[in-house]
Amino acid sequence: MINENYLKLKESYLFSTIAKKVGDYSKTYPEKRITRLGIGDVTRPLAPVVVEAIGKAVLEMGKAETFRGYGEEQGYLFLRKAICEYYAKRSVMLNEDEVFISDGAKSDLGNILDIFSAANTVQIPDPVYPVYVDTNIMAGRSITYINGNIENNFLPMPDRKNKADIIYLCSPNNPTGSLYSKEELKAWVDYALENDAVILFDSAYEIFVRNENYPRSIFEIEGAVECAIEFCSFSKTAGFTGTRCGYTIIPKKLKRNSIALNGMWLRRQTTKFNGVPYIVQRGAEAVFTDAGQVQIKEAIDYYLENANIIANTLTELGIWYTGGKNSPYIWMKCPKNMLSWDFFDQLLEKTGVVGTPGAGFGNMGEGFFRLSAFGSKENVLYGMEKFREYGGTL
Ligand code: PLP
Repeated sequence: MINENYLKLKESYLFSTIAKKVGDYSKTYPEKRITRLGIGDVTRPLAPVVVEAIGKAVLEMGKAETFRGYGEEQGYLFLRKAICEYYAKRSVMLNEDEVFISDGAKSDLGNILDIFSAANTVQIPDPVYPVYVDTNIMAGRSITYINGNIENNFLPMPDRKNKADIIYLCSPNNPTGSLYSKEELKAWVDYALENDAVILFDSAYEIFVRNENYPRSIFEIEGAVECAIEFCSFSKTAGFTGTRCGYTIIPKKLKRNSIALNGMWLRRQTTKFNGVPYIVQRGAEAVFTDAGQVQIKEAIDYYLENANIIANTLTELGIWYTGGKNSPYIWMKCPKNMLSWDFFDQLLEKTGVVGTPGAGFGNMGEGFFRLSAFGSKENVLYGMEKFREYGGTL
């Protein structure tokens, strides 16, 4: 027997369709420049301190005296300590055994479902990072959607009529770039506590939050240690999308049916996962050194400047959008109420600019379009020049 839930998954044609359309365009107009403003991957290289730490760790692995085999179960203490110190700077006090190192947030976001009953009801914002939806479909869970729209600035709030056991929140959000305030997250935490629900909080883009009034971790909110798990990653923080390292925080106080979820996750991980390479964990540790923090800030500044250029252009053109500040994503309304794919086609045809159709992120994404700040500044400037040039006719 196979897991028939897989048959319920919708094929993901988003990025393959984009690639095909762009390929056809280049064949038709080989002389035209293509400006990619749709990419969700980072482009700035690893910070020099990270490269140095990785290099040093490689040499250690080559000598019998410093060679390491299997690492510590939850990840090396040096890295978990560095993560706790990072959170302590924002007055979030964690214990090292509340931190679990992994090969990235995507794996943990999918695997965490192992410790929850398939009978749970899940609440997922729409539009959304598709992994939350697909992993729950694979597990056969029933999903209710909480709608993002212009009225709520793509920041859906709890609906007290709608009960859920598991709630996904992502802030700053992919794809919308929206960011929950402390008061809004407090409302979610209160709702979760009232309903015995667990919030799965994805903070993969926390490093982009520059406005000190906004939370970067769910644990900045009172009561969250009793109802939330946080997933974060070095992917966007420090360019680790190809290097692979992330972490998940499960407070010891988080219990359901009197059972600590921290212990269940430890059991799950020690049974099914043998850890992240020592070499990579040393690289991740270097991110938290003073030099590391300065160096990663340079790359984030670079992306934020791109985001600002895009946001300012859209403001100038009178186009509605969210994000672009405290986030590498800009989520714009397609002009003239166009559908996402129609706008994609028209934008490509007229300007050579490639973005991501919002419809690819859920039903509520229809009519919207995601632009990303991860490209080169030169490309962003050129793309925005094209937006201005065609602004009125887009
Ligand atoms: N969460 C969100 C919202 C993301 O956009 C991404 C990557 O794009 C991830 C998690 C996954 O990150 P990782 O590379 O750590 O698996």
